[in-house]
Amino acid sequence: MTWLVQPSLINEPFSDPGLFVDFRFGRRALLFDLGDLTPLSPRQLLRVTHAFISHTHMDHFAGFDRLLRVCLHRTAPLHLIGPAEFADRVEHKLRAYTLNLLDENSVDFAIRVAEFSEGGFDRVCEFRAHKAFRRNEIPPARLSPGLLLDEEEFRVEGTVLDHGIPCLAFAFEEKLRVNVWRDGLRQLGLPVGPWLRDAKRAVRQGAPDHTEICVRDGVIISLGELKKHALRTSRGQKIAYVVDLIYSERNIEKVIALAGDADQLFIETPFLDEDSAIAAERKHLTARQAGHIAKRAGVRSLIAFHFSARYRDRTDELTREAQEAFRD
Ligand SMILES: [Zn+2]
Repeated sequence: MTWLVQPSLINEPFSDPGLFVDFRFGRRALLFDLGDLTPLSPRQLLRVTHAFISHTHMDHFAGFDRLLRVCLHRTAPLHLIGPAEFADRVEHKLRAYTLNLLDENSVDFAIRVAEFSEGGFDRVCEFRAHKAFRRNEIPPARLSPGLLLDEEEFRVEGTVLDHGIPCLAFAFEEKLRVNVWRDGLRQLGLPVGPWLRDAKRAVRQGAPDHTEICVRDGVIISLGELKKHALRTSRGQKIAYVVDLIYSERNIEKVIALAGDADQLFIETPFLDEDSAIAAERKHLTARQAGHIAKRAGVRSLIAFHFSARYRDRTDELTREAQEAFRD
């Protein structure tokens, strides 16, 4: 099974949290959080179309400068999605630079910033290089509740958690996996080719079986025939990213609703349960609490990260505590 995307943590678990979600095809990537991005190459950063930022504590946002630096002369826009007041934070970052060398002759790089709250997008601002990155308010898109991004092959959902301040958690979900069975294709006497993309799209959109798919000029096959012999569907991949939250029933319910059934849950485990009082005071989870949440959400695997520096020598204990609670 080839997944649509390959997620990987940007740093080791004691460094800044962040997830790089790389598409297997199509030279594209997404980012969850913008902490230290040093391990990512410029080539990887240039693939990023959307970055989803949980909140703007430094360990989650200090990498913005690097991303800007690498993308500044890119033609494709950069989309940033964050919590309430996020556009102001981005604007302050942009204001810190002298930008007199950007003019009509430079690439008009655009940054589009959307603020997400419980009800959807409250505010969208655009910052363009040709306008010296001055803020321009634009009307927010209306998506279904909880939806941050809706594309043909996947969607990204979000929820607002309580970390003393609003903090977003995210779930990436592939809509429907459509695999081509090559032997079946051969039996039908059909070649592999770009036409298969149309066929897959038709399946994902739930088109009726009598839909005609054009293989090439003069060669047409019904979608039903194709599905019977050469296409296999299965549920898509789901990845959830959850960091910085108070262990409260309200937060837990929101994480379960968002991350339920995920193939991979990346969840913070900053403290050991023996330090649960400190965890509560800092508005974070313990490893055991993270494991319990993962279990209740019915995820297939848990990836523990975002460790407090106090456990430098006890990495295994954090992971073990989370996995034990998860498997319990
Ligand atoms: Zn954090």
